[in-house]
Amino acid sequence: MKIMDYMKRYDYEELVFCCDTGVGLNAIIAIHDTTLGPALGGARMWPYQSEEEATLDALRLGRAMTYKSAAAGLNLGGGKAVIIGDPTKDKSTWLFRSLGRFIESLNGRYITTEDVGTSVHDMEHIRAETTHVTGLPLAWGSSGDPSPLTGFGIYQGIRACAREVFGTDSLQGRTVAIQGFGKVGSYLAGHLRDEGVNIVATDINEEAVRRAREEFGATIAKPDEIYDTECDIFSPCALGSVLNSQTIPRLKCKIVAGGANNQLAEDEHGDLLQKRSILYAPDFILNAGGVINLSVELTGYDSELAKARVAEIYHTVERVIALAKSEKISTARVADRLASDRIEEARRTKKIYLRK
Ligand code: NAD
Repeated sequence: MKIMDYMKRYDYEELVFCCDTGVGLNAIIAIHDTTLGPALGGARMWPYQSEEEATLDALRLGRAMTYKSAAAGLNLGGGKAVIIGDPTKDKSTWLFRSLGRFIESLNGRYITTEDVGTSVHDMEHIRAETTHVTGLPLAWGSSGDPSPLTGFGIYQGIRACAREVFGTDSLQGRTVAIQGFGKVGSYLAGHLRDEGVNIVATDINEEAVRRAREEFGATIAKPDEIYDTECDIFSPCALGSVLNSQTIPRLKCKIVAGGANNQLAEDEHGDLLQKRSILYAPDFILNAGGVINLSVELTGYDSELAKARVAEIYHTVERVIALAKSEKISTARVADRLASDRIEEARRTKKIYLRK
């Protein structure tokens, strides 16, 4: 991959390689766009097989954050940090403190939070070095783990999709296949179980599978079988690029609506879903609950306000579906346009001089 070419193609601002051999930190921070505000996005820890894989993930995830915040109407830009390492073995206080110092050096252009492989506890170590971190413990008056509201937002989006496809937003008696039973998958499953949904679940982690079966009464599918599962709704809640030319022809559902970031391997896979008459709820619209929650923390946390704002995802999904129908384009393309239009509007706003 030619990094500069990639950055030019998608208009990235900055890519930072962070190396601290003393604590074993190898991390990459990608800042995609700060037109609307500071770049906010989680710090992911994952045993990437190569620097190239990690760099591409940081770049792709950072860009998705720009679109997510823009489409949700937030005054935030997009960025992401990735730490190359195994979260079950390679974590230490000083590794996160070191990352915190690198984040501090960016002077507020990037704000971090937890993500796959990192926790609220890890953010406490980062906070020892920088104020540019959110999602701190509830006991600190912060918003805590964003996953519960991410799950709630996905649930709202699924209801809006059901209303379009089945004529009712009640999910009672429907079957939802959840890929990835981690934090987001579990919080989503809680809402679905309370509404009488039949849950089919898969995960590569045995403990997650056990929880799905014992606590949520889920039927278990093998990881690769999930694409062939007969269901009303397929909900990807693990990792990205799961909607591609190999998997889409196998799907036996009417709706794809889940929380994983970057579900479409390529933009055209949104069109492929549309051709198959499967309603796709764009990932960054559906999983914005976490970032909406964090944005409330930035101005003084209020959990009721955060929940009310996240519930609006229902109406955003309705709007995306209506525009896709009237313009005869895929929901994925509508969502991209909603986000890029808002960024363009901000760019066009006259920049009058303000003494600060
Ligand atoms: P998590 O690590 O708690 O859960 C992910 C789960 O997916 C794990 O249980 C893992 O074992 C499983 N998994 C990984 N590969 C799999 C595969 N091939 N098949 C089946 N299961 C697999 O992470 P999370 O916080 O629940 O996040 C899940 C997704 O949602 C990620 O893409 C993340 O970026 C996205 N997301 C999370 C939030 C949030 O608030 N946590 C917000 C927005 C988006």
